[in-house]
Amino acid sequence: MNDVSAWGQSDAVYKTLLESTKAIPWKIDWATKKFAYIGPQIEPLLGWPQDSWQTVEDWVMRMHPDDRDYVVNFCVSQSQAGIDHEADYRALTAENGYVWIRDVVHVMRFPDGSPEALVGFMFDITERKKTEEKLLVLQRELEALSFKDGLTGIANRRRFDACFAMEWDRALSDGAPLSVLLFDIDCFKQYNDEYGHIQGDKCLVDIASTLSLAVDGPHDLVARYGGEEFVILLPRTDAATALKVANRCQRLIQKRSIPHAQSPIREHVTVSIGAGTITPDADVEPSAFLDDVDKQLYAAKKSGKNRIVAMHSAPSLAPSPLDAK
Ligand code: GH3
Ligand code: MG
Ligand code: MG
Repeated sequence: MNDVSAWGQSDAVYKTLLESTKAIPWKIDWATKKFAYIGPQIEPLLGWPQDSWQTVEDWVMRMHPDDRDYVVNFCVSQSQAGIDHEADYRALTAENGYVWIRDVVHVMRFPDGSPEALVGFMFDITERKKTEEKLLVLQRELEALSFKDGLTGIANRRRFDACFAMEWDRALSDGAPLSVLLFDIDCFKQYNDEYGHIQGDKCLVDIASTLSLAVDGPHDLVARYGGEEFVILLPRTDAATALKVANRCQRLIQKRSIPHAQSPIREHVTVSIGAGTITPDADVEPSAFLDDVDKQLYAAKKSGKNRIVAMHSAPSLAPSPLDAK
């Protein structure tokens, strides 16, 4: 143990090189599962004396319990298969802390291919892991701050809320009408049940892109409102024009013809739409208006789905009954 000759080298240059790197070299004999060598750098890093590393058990027992099974199984199977590999894990320090290690392992093999020994380097990657964790936290914060829906790429609820508040104020000051269309995919639970969640996600992407085709005003906004709900904000738009946009949306979705075998409504995916138009005044709360539009959507669902219900107007059915079941 700890004799440089274990490396088959007596040259002091090799020893100096190996023991002056930040990476910690080691060698384990496969037959005995004993350390033939471990660099002295291990002691300043983990606090365990160099000669306390006797067998592979010492390595296993000084690993975080949550990493142990995966890392040991992985390393054993790779070694048996003669495959060089690397593993990240938390190594226990003598002071009861943990250091993130990346172990890079080369399998030395007998002529018949069976493992003779493992040699490798341990790298202290604690700082790197900390940076990765910080980046993850930052990424999550950015996602939360972002205005884009991660799945469909269209505007998210946050963006809608901001635009709606802005357009409401603008409409208040210039006396123009403002319209909102709320969409909810019909029987989407059955869609997921039938085609799976991944296909469900694809369907949401398709619906988002279809709705985006239906608007053309410079201030119109298509956003994902919630799970399988979408919203279109139509500033400076009266009720008649909003209804036209809603009809265009339904036509385009019908044309897209996304199969939905389990839908009791049609053989393809349909949506229900609640439409509302308002010329805001100071007495009306913006959220009360949105609640009203939501009530129209609810009415569309209650009266059979696949239809548009607009405030103060009779329900309007989907464009073509030809493909009704
Ligand atoms: P209704 O016709 O009354 O609208 O019924 P529904 O099944 O569409 O509505 P329900 O509220 O019962 O179910 C909505 C489903 O939408 C359940 C949920 O798993 C699914 N969903 C919500 N968000 C996502 C998503 O991001 N991806 C997928 N694949 N499914 C989603
Ligand atoms: Mg819903
Ligand atoms: Mg739904």
